[in-house]
Amino acid sequence: MDEFPTIMKARQFVRSADITSVPVDIGRLAATANARIKVVDDLNGDESGYTFPLNGKHVIAVNGNHREERQRFTVLHEIAHIVLDLPSQHHGGKLTISDLMRYGRRPPEEMLCDVFAAECLLPYDFFSKDVGNVDISMEAVKKLARQYKASITSTGSRFAINAIEPCAFVLSENGMVRYVSRSKFLREMNGWIEFNMPVPQGSVAQRLFQGASKTEDYDEIAADTWFSNGVKNYDMLAEEALLLREWDQCLSLIWFDENLRSTAAGQDSGEGDEPLLRELDGILPWPSKSRRK
Ligand SMILES: [Zn+2]
Repeated sequence: MDEFPTIMKARQFVRSADITSVPVDIGRLAATANARIKVVDDLNGDESGYTFPLNGKHVIAVNGNHREERQRFTVLHEIAHIVLDLPSQHHGGKLTISDLMRYGRRPPEEMLCDVFAAECLLPYDFFSKDVGNVDISMEAVKKLARQYKASITSTGSRFAINAIEPCAFVLSENGMVRYVSRSKFLREMNGWIEFNMPVPQGSVAQRLFQGASKTEDYDEIAADTWFSNGVKNYDMLAEEALLLREWDQCLSLIWFDENLRSTAAGQDSGEGDEPLLRELDGILPWPSKSRRK
């Protein structure tokens, strides 16, 4: 599944709506998609919303009992179906919270609608500047989520895409890696994280899944924990993870910075030294990076 054309369509759509500030004006985006938002208060708790045609327009009904951030995402997900012309795969026509939150067996069209929605909520023209001005941390993601009235999950995925540094965002569910987004720098470094695989042993996410009490943690771990093929010149990575117990999901922010660079970096030691460097992984006492907030 290639997200790139969808992201480009979302950027074009936001620009065509003439959005000039954040949090993004959802009513304005709906109008641009020839849609009207109807807040409904008698939907079941699990129902997020649905769309129906009326007098040549689309009416997007949204559950008024849900938190504002969830309502905004629901409306944008429905707008995505309209703009991308992708028929909905929702159960019985209604979009439920599980449709939005469960990643396990989600159809690819639904994933693309979420990508579109997240890009509209956190538009590149604004968000890339804000991401460029902060150090990578889960705290930064949370702060931006509040500022843009978006979920931590959407914000984290767009954060990694927009980061200048080598950075990835991973969503795991029931112990399986289900979604990965990566910054341009990381893609260029060929830093690849497999998905639909079990959360790797030794990762912060795995520790949170197995632990009983902690819901957040940070550590510096061997780079090949997440990147099975390793990443050239980087032996260690930073991972900060957040457990969403309600959904049995874990969000990981994974990044590299200069303080985590291999001592051999710059000397370009060649392939011959690689096994030695690998052996040192994990036992080398690495100078700890103070957490920057
Ligand atoms: Zn959908």
